[in-house]
Amino acid sequence: MSNLDTAPPVLRRGGREEVSARPVRELLRPRITPLGESTVVRRLLPNLGRRMVGAWCFVDHYGPDDIADEPGMWVPPHPHTGLQTVSWLHDGDVLHRDSVGSLQTIRPRELGLMTAGRAIAHAEQSPRVHAPLLHGAQLWVALPDAHRHVSPAFEHHTDLPLVTSRAGLRATVVLGEIDGAASPGTTYSPLVGADLSLAAGTDVKLPLEPDFEYAVLTMSGSAHVDGVPLDPGSMLYLGCGRRELSLRAATVSGLLLLGGEPFDEKIVMWWNFIGRSGEEIAEARADWNAGRRFGTVHGFDGDPTPAPDLPGVRLKARGRER
Ligand code: MN
Repeated sequence: MSNLDTAPPVLRRGGREEVSARPVRELLRPRITPLGESTVVRRLLPNLGRRMVGAWCFVDHYGPDDIADEPGMWVPPHPHTGLQTVSWLHDGDVLHRDSVGSLQTIRPRELGLMTAGRAIAHAEQSPRVHAPLLHGAQLWVALPDAHRHVSPAFEHHTDLPLVTSRAGLRATVVLGEIDGAASPGTTYSPLVGADLSLAAGTDVKLPLEPDFEYAVLTMSGSAHVDGVPLDPGSMLYLGCGRRELSLRAATVSGLLLLGGEPFDEKIVMWWNFIGRSGEEIAEARADWNAGRRFGTVHGFDGDPTPAPDLPGVRLKARGRER
């Protein structure tokens, strides 16, 4: 999905100063952003005072929306640099096209993983004939400096590992590893993403990596995460230093666990680009608007989205701080 802001702010992020070394319970409320005419997205990351969770730097939650009599998702071609996108659905289907030639329908609990690397463009839309409900999350992972210029690529994984060793919990490993079960998705820094389905009455503890920081997004139901009740569309930041996480659910609930090693590098994020300096961002913007570098998304019935104007301030990454 695209960052739909028409006047996106410049965001400088990364580094350790916001990372909590100890366990915390920090409730992140969503910012509501319109998506098309009939739906909204709830932006959990970036959030006030909380910019990243490991390398996860962007989290939008949308739906469930009834799109039975509507076109549904319609996101025209737009570019990305320096990041990976994760498309994750609980309901519905999304047709993905990109400038490396991918044409792929993504269905619930299948991983659509796009590595932008130095440059990619893509478009996403609900298929003409689509499921009546649309419910999902769009996530971005920042690429570390050593890998941010890799060649663009798209992966589609339909057979992700399931961890079912705890009563009432069904964990789908989206990225990284849970309990020794590893996702086939390519990662470039130590991180984890897991979809947690909790049956009604579940009360379990999930093992965590103490060096990672974590957050949990509630997509449906009503769960208690480390004792904190979470409504759908809200996220709890958990900090580092945890060996396990208590999960309880009174009703059937769907959660997304995101974690990773704190992202040390300072990055500059603007619109759909991640770079290390304002000059890089300005160059990516100019290349996209001039039709250079990003390739062509074929088969989408609509014009590409031009990059908005840059704000009138210098886009500068802050130095590494501890
Ligand atoms: Mn996108």
